[in-house]
Amino acid sequence: MPTRATKRGADRTRLDLDCDVLICGASFAGLAVARELSQSGAEVLVLDRYEIGERQTSACGIPTGWLKELDLQASAQQTFGELVIHTPHTTVTYQLPWTFSTFDYRTLCGLLADQGRFTFETAKVNGRTGRTVHTDRGDIRASHIVDALGWRRVLGAGENIQPPDALLSRGLEVHPHGGGQDMEIWIDRSYVPAGYGWSFPAGEELRIGVGSFDPRFHVREPTERLASDLEAPTVRYQGNWIPHALRPAIDDGVFFVGDSAGHCLPLTAEGIRTALYFGLAAGRELRETLAGRKSAADALTTYGAFSASHATPFAWMLRVQRLVPRVAPRLLAGSLRAMQSRRFLDWAFGHYLEIAHPRYVTASHPHAPARVKATSSLP
Ligand SMILES: Cc1cc2nc3c(=O)[nH]c(=O)nc-3n(C[C@H](O)[C@H](O)[C@H](O)COP(=O)(O)OP(=O)(O)OC[C@H]3O[C@@H](n4cnc5c(N)ncnc54)[C@H](O)[C@@H]3O)c2cc1C
Repeated sequence: MPTRATKRGADRTRLDLDCDVLICGASFAGLAVARELSQSGAEVLVLDRYEIGERQTSACGIPTGWLKELDLQASAQQTFGELVIHTPHTTVTYQLPWTFSTFDYRTLCGLLADQGRFTFETAKVNGRTGRTVHTDRGDIRASHIVDALGWRRVLGAGENIQPPDALLSRGLEVHPHGGGQDMEIWIDRSYVPAGYGWSFPAGEELRIGVGSFDPRFHVREPTERLASDLEAPTVRYQGNWIPHALRPAIDDGVFFVGDSAGHCLPLTAEGIRTALYFGLAAGRELRETLAGRKSAADALTTYGAFSASHATPFAWMLRVQRLVPRVAPRLLAGSLRAMQSRRFLDWAFGHYLEIAHPRYVTASHPHAPARVKATSSLP
């Protein structure tokens, strides 16, 4: 259970603290790291500029298995066994070999936070000098530092690459009240030349958005147009940059987890389960260090290598991301239809899930997280 030391607003006190582990960012990645440290006995401090669960950072769609394995099912809103893909020339419905669910962000973050044991403070993280992290409320010194702050990679050494030059996509969605049965996506150049649109039903609301793999392409107008085509009002906007390339997961003694390490999957912009997955991996390495079973340097090296060992699927997905916009629309429609076979879908979606499989939650990793083996076979 997280504890809170100070209040907000005028009651905010100055921070001048020392701790064992400082986790910057209290969303998927940061809370997953904290969960793994619940039994460590270490002084763990988690910082975020907002309260836990206050600001939703995504459409909140995830393979249901991750909710089950992490005991977060109470946050689930709707579950889908099919994916409906629209293009200008066809609509296909794919029967998925596993289900996908939408969830309530605030509930999920609360449940995940309850699995950890840490002190939580709201503060804006501004930067770092060695083992000292500078915030708008003062400095915090920590033996181990985790950057789970998202794509800005605030705690990286040296200058950070900023959009539109960085390998980032951009996404924007609206959250109108309404309902639906289908998880739908649109691959349609009239909305976005390189990217896709989506509509994810989530209980009482729809999450309708457009993501562009080209960071120079503005997504507000197409997001509003897609919502209007679906006769939904354009209300409650939520958007951000989304990384689509892996970056070193360790740098200058700091663990980078989730979007700060480019852990979002390049083709689909799915970054929640990977933030959780790499968060567990970083937390397990930190646990080894805190228990005196591994040096801090070895823990960093193992985690960095674990992240880098996923380079091949990430690179493949980036290639496909770049290929799809170049395929003629009629050919794309034909290809999507051809991919409807059960065997192909089981194979493709099986491999896709393997990149960060929910079984990793309960995998036993005495010293180092190891890549789980693919069980799917070629059709
Ligand atoms: C419109 C949109 C829809 C998306 N939909 C999906 C989806 O349905 N499924 C999916 O899997 N992925 C989706 N993604 C991608 C997904 O949101 C990210 O990959 C995921 O949120 C990464 O998790 P994270 O914990 O690394 O970072 P984040 O969730 O971005 O969390 C970063 C945390 O750090 C805090 N923070 C940032 N800067 C500071 C600072 N300077 N000081 C203090 N705190 C700070 C933030 O408040 C936040 O709590 C979507 C992205 C967008 C933009």
